[in-house]
Amino acid sequence: MSEPLQPWQWPEEHWRGIVNRVRAGRSLKPSHWPDGARCAIALSFDSDHETNELREGGESIGRLSQGQYGNRQGIPRILEILARHGVRASFYVPAVTALLYPDEQRRIADEGHEIALHGWIHERNSVLPEAAERELMLRSADTLEKVAGKRPVGIRTPSWDFSPATLAIARDMGLEYDSSLMADVDCYELLLDGAPSGIVELPVEWIRDDAVYFNMNRFAGLRPYTPPASVFDIFRRELDAAYREGGIFQLTMHPHISGYRSRIWILEELILHARNLGRVWFATHAEIARYVQQPQ
Ligand SMILES: [Zn+2]
Repeated sequence: MSEPLQPWQWPEEHWRGIVNRVRAGRSLKPSHWPDGARCAIALSFDSDHETNELREGGESIGRLSQGQYGNRQGIPRILEILARHGVRASFYVPAVTALLYPDEQRRIADEGHEIALHGWIHERNSVLPEAAERELMLRSADTLEKVAGKRPVGIRTPSWDFSPATLAIARDMGLEYDSSLMADVDCYELLLDGAPSGIVELPVEWIRDDAVYFNMNRFAGLRPYTPPASVFDIFRRELDAAYREGGIFQLTMHPHISGYRSRIWILEELILHARNLGRVWFATHAEIARYVQQPQ
């Protein structure tokens, strides 16, 4: 057998094929937002809890306890702030989290927030065989529906990546949107092998993710170096620009990362700052994905 070709030896059709598997298609930036709002604000919380440890095959009781903090302290602190300001948000919940904490999911749903897919056990979906990925996505949707009482319409993949099969599975499941990719700041339609998939992308970015700034690992060189005030400054600048541009401010936080006394204020200050800017539309990711597909 001959050696596989190196990337610099690939014929054009090969590298084009890789790039075209999943790409950003037409922009879905709307000409205006509901009720004269200047920008849309999509707050999201990835309720990973213990699954960050479990998905690695880990059994560290210390790290599992940090996950449980997400349920005991993180989620209640977040829900209290959202309720106080009348803001609804989206929660991305691995099915294993939902099974560990069904009451948490029911409370979130009862308080008007969206619950959407975030893997089975926060597995690295991008390296799974297609049959396993499909079965887990379906089983996760069934589980969230059973626990929270409503079938999820959107997905955020556990590690913000796709396998070559992810988008086709999402389309086959009838999902309306994904929120895992990063080709824009505004919504766009995902293309699958160059053809419109009908699925809206509501883009994330690591810049707007608390985990990047605050994660810590005892035995690796990973430490938080960005003070909470600087994290707030980065998020606020993203928000200010979204307001100026009439776009979306999308943010990802984790209950077990931001749900601490020295950090949780960032969420409340952002909500207050957004309200001070002027008219803004706080909405779930599902509501925004649905809105941008309507003819303006
Ligand atoms: Zn996650």
